Amino acid sequence: MKKETTGDWFISFGLETDEGDLPEKPDVDSLNADNSVGVDLGILNYIHTSDGTTVDWIDLEDEYERLYREQRKLSRKEHGSNNYENQRQAVAKVKRHIRQKVLDYQHKLTIWLVTEYDAVFVEDLNVAEMLQGDGNARNKQAAAWRQFITLLEYKGELYGTHVVQVEAAGTTKECATCGVETAKPIWVREHSCPSCGFECNRDANAAMNILQRGFAELGLGWPESTPVETVLPTDTTRVSAKRVVETGRPTLNEATPVAE
Ligand SMILES: [Zn+2]
Repeated sequence: MKKETTGDWFISFGLETDEGDLPEKPDVDSLNADNSVGVDLGILNYIHTSDGTTVDWIDLEDEYERLYREQRKLSRKEHGSNNYENQRQAVAKVKRHIRQKVLDYQHKLTIWLVTEYDAVFVEDLNVAEMLQGDGNARNKQAAAWRQFITLLEYKGELYGTHVVQVEAAGTTKECATCGVETAKPIWVREHSCPSCGFECNRDANAAMNILQRGFAELGLGWPESTPVETVLPTDTTRVSAKRVVETGRPTLNEATPVAE
């Protein structure tokens, strides 16, 4: 039992289950570019998949505005007074709301990934190194991605999906077609290889590298007969966070009712 700073009590239960109850993962040899996906965790707050879907990160602007407002109010209360205690709880409640909203969103995205694909590959992030910007925003984003990967891994076990973390270094610089590295500052959004001429969206190139590294990690080669160009989607679908929140997934199957 745990009392939160909001004053709410929580009771947790631990259940022991049989390992044998978990579904078996698909045979590694059955994996291919159609049933597997590389996921690039964007530093600009979105994920990008190797088959061309960009999913926006959830918009928390209103929530943060409310949080700063409540925090400002708290700073004006007399420390230790009843008013102070009440306002402290108000701040804690907004923080909890933000945490729950992020967690809910990540549950939806990770469930979508492990049910849509047989194998999901993500970067083994040294998030602190990857991110630039001020310390506070960096830590928040790093913690969010770490939580995302944790959810993805346990759901992989739960749903029988391969979830593999791959070496993250160079996924953006490297050309998905020829492997030649090119320095690429954050503001350069296109990949254009000086060596082989391959051109595509910066994040699509990174996601494709992640997919290839995932295959290598599982001991599968990238079939020579499958050039990256034929696997890469010709255009990118951008999905708003709102759609994920409302439908629980970034893709909407026409045959599937929304309220499943
Ligand atoms: Zn190239």
